[in-house]
Amino acid sequence: MIPGRFDYHRPDSVAGAIAILTEHGDAARVVAGGHSLIPMMKLRMTDLEHLIDLQAIEALKGIDVADGTVRIGAMTTQHELLTSDVLKSAVPILHEAATQIADPQVRYMGTVGGNVANGDPGNDMPGLMQCLGASFTLIGPNGTREVAARDYYEAAYFTEREDDEILSEIRFQVPPAGTGYAYEKQKRKIGDYATAAAAVLTGPSGASIAMTNLSDTPIWSQEAGDALASGDTEGAIAAALAAIDPSEDNRGPVEFKKHVAGVILRRAIERAQKRAG
Ligand code: FAD
Repeated sequence: MIPGRFDYHRPDSVAGAIAILTEHGDAARVVAGGHSLIPMMKLRMTDLEHLIDLQAIEALKGIDVADGTVRIGAMTTQHELLTSDVLKSAVPILHEAATQIADPQVRYMGTVGGNVANGDPGNDMPGLMQCLGASFTLIGPNGTREVAARDYYEAAYFTEREDDEILSEIRFQVPPAGTGYAYEKQKRKIGDYATAAAAVLTGPSGASIAMTNLSDTPIWSQEAGDALASGDTEGAIAAALAAIDPSEDNRGPVEFKKHVAGVILRRAIERAQKRAG
């Protein structure tokens, strides 16, 4: 399959990319690793006249952990997340989740920014970033703003990001020492998107629970986290299951997905509790 004709741009700065986005409006789109966008273009489900490649923008790359804050540049690949020792030690849940995303070929190219930016309900990083309480930095023609991951997702493929904004960085606090963690994912086969996935953190600063591919946005439940923090595992699971709204598709009917969601969330909670200091 061959995409329609488009002009290719390769700016070396965020300002340059935003200038092209602003000039061409709806006819332009940025591409990061291309593992979601290019297939859509080949299937002619996305038609655009200008493709703006972010690969040459060094300012969008890199991982930094300093003073208890993690910063991940949007163009950091899933593979780079997995091979970062500093990240594995500071935020092991991120490493655990990244090992379960797609396959090595996809992880070599797919970026964290691309994974969180476009609002695909099947992607694993959005729910994880909600669990971690992350914020996203958005840069556009009118300046820079921060949006909490928990406020970013509006519906499937609809997000808080304006079309002329670029997601430049993801930022969150390192979970305190003694925090137990688990990322649990049920999928049909290796390399598949989740039928259901759960991210759980529990420790001295409370508990946080988010679920993936069980609604048209990731689901983070304050009630579920509060219940878990108070020692009420059953209440936490019930609250999380009350918040999801799965649809029937080729991964199964609604009742099956709700069942799987309960099973994987229980597993994630139990594993996180065992790991808590
Ligand atoms: P692209 O395809 O380049 O872009 C995706 C969208 O985001 C585009 O609309 C683009 O305009 C926009 N975008 C990209 N970067 C930015 C930015 N910095 N600012 C603003 N907008 C931006 N993911 C999972 O989480 N779990 C899985 O199990 C999984 N399985 C997969 C299996 C296969 C076979 C494939 C092909 C992909 C799978 N993925 C999975 C998705 C993959 O991990 C990538 O995260 C995903 O393709 C998005 O990253 P990308 O860099 O390729 O983005």
